[in-house]
Amino acid sequence: MHDGFEPGATLHTQLYIDGLWCAGEGGHRLPVVNPSTEGTIAQVEAGNATDVDCAVRAAARALRSWKKTTGAQRAALLRAIASGVSDRREHLAALQSLNNGKPLDEARSDVSDVVATFEYYAGLAEQFDASGESAVAIPSDAYQATVRREPAGVVALIVPWNFPMVTTAWKLAPALAAGCTVILKPSEITPLPELELAAIIAHAGVPGGVVNVVTGTGAEVGAPLAAHPLVAKVSFTGSTAVGAQVMKTAADTIKGVSLELGGKSSIIVFADADLDLATDLVAGGAFFNGGQMCSATSRVLVERPLADALAARLADRARRTVVGDPFRPGVQMGPLASRAQYERVQRYIARGKADGARLVIEGEAPAGPGYFVKPTMFVDIPTEGPLWREEIFGPVLCLRSFDTEDEAIATANDTEFGLVATVVTRDAGRGGRVAAGLEAGVVWINAPQIIFPQTSWGGYKRSSIGRELGPFGLAAFQEIKQVLMPAGAAGTAHCIHGA
Ligand code: NAD
Repeated sequence: MHDGFEPGATLHTQLYIDGLWCAGEGGHRLPVVNPSTEGTIAQVEAGNATDVDCAVRAAARALRSWKKTTGAQRAALLRAIASGVSDRREHLAALQSLNNGKPLDEARSDVSDVVATFEYYAGLAEQFDASGESAVAIPSDAYQATVRREPAGVVALIVPWNFPMVTTAWKLAPALAAGCTVILKPSEITPLPELELAAIIAHAGVPGGVVNVVTGTGAEVGAPLAAHPLVAKVSFTGSTAVGAQVMKTAADTIKGVSLELGGKSSIIVFADADLDLATDLVAGGAFFNGGQMCSATSRVLVERPLADALAARLADRARRTVVGDPFRPGVQMGPLASRAQYERVQRYIARGKADGARLVIEGEAPAGPGYFVKPTMFVDIPTEGPLWREEIFGPVLCLRSFDTEDEAIATANDTEFGLVATVVTRDAGRGGRVAAGLEAGVVWINAPQIIFPQTSWGGYKRSSIGRELGPFGLAAFQEIKQVLMPAGAAGTAHCIHGA
């Protein structure tokens, strides 16, 4: 298998704390597995609570000067990181394909997203010097008030394995733009891209202690981070169950939490839809990244007159999807990212069959090692069963028909989650109406799942607390301070810096 690496490229496997690469205190390492071959790529440090404490203290020391930097100074570093990521595009893409199993083209588009995110937040950091403090109109001549935005402090960023670099960039870029210092905990399944990012950050000239990366398990690194008294805020992306645990742990020290959690999202296809477009959007929403997407639109609701035609097209598409080595040109789906994920998806497929759902096309794995599953589609899924209700996180599509617009909206909303939805119709009025009725943080109408960093990310109900991206993503890492004083008093000049 071609591994996509530059000759002589080294893999970073140590913790990055206070500007230094170091071994963990416990002396243990964790294997990182190539999901295409099940071979071990590297052994990374298994951090523990002592390493977490060391990293948090380094971040707290670095905060003293980092929070006094101007937005323009932070922006320059964010742009240097963007440029470093851009320069290492092919290496970073290959690292993700190797570690996560996603096809190389998908990994390249993740790298582009990371670059765009750092550049966008560099722009917001540049604006910050002029906009970070503003006068507020109050109904009194005797006083004057200003409101200013300050960094939240030391923040913990905990991320999953499905889009390792993207979920990291969506937190790291705004946290740095806001003036926070960071401890990043990558997933133990895919730590390699973030460790490479740490090297880029060091090379960009970000001062030691501003960004620290501690690899290890959720129990040994994530939990002590969420509990640490010097951590002001936890920004977590991962499963709903672990998100709830993080929130409970953070409650003991009244930390702020931002949570980006699971989803069980719908794509609603009306009978007037363009069938080619609908097929593309359903397949993209369900099979991209092997369906390992919080935003997977794995519930297809199709208006009855189009149901058979769409099911036939999707079955054909699923059958023709090329599954295999993520480095091989033309491969559309790599392996799932881990054995645990592979086994989870197989359990859901078995459960669907046992529940009497009609299996239209079954995921058959290519022979040999690797966590490969082919696209799978069920129709007539019972709405109370786990396939319809729970996040599968694999290339498994469940299709049901509907008769009215109201029924489609009600069925789509009948879930504990509310991350995204897609609507496919030629009727613009209906598209807008349905989008308004959906309980979801993002709705795409006749569009693929494109996400611009200028917009917003996050959902309703048990999918999220807070929003990432756009100005919302920056606000998540800021405190707000009101300063009120007698009108005309001395010292009213800008006091953002040197606070
Ligand atoms: P996970 O919850 O198992 O792990 C996520 C991270 O939390 C990992 O780094 C893990 O080590 C850490 N962790 C585990 N236990 C912890 C604990 N007790 N305290 C603190 N940290 C702990 O999730 P996963 O399997 O890595 O990722 C898949 C999940 O992520 C899916 O549910 C998916 O929907 C969700 N996700 C959501 C979004 C979004 O934007 N809403 C994006 C990507 C993934």
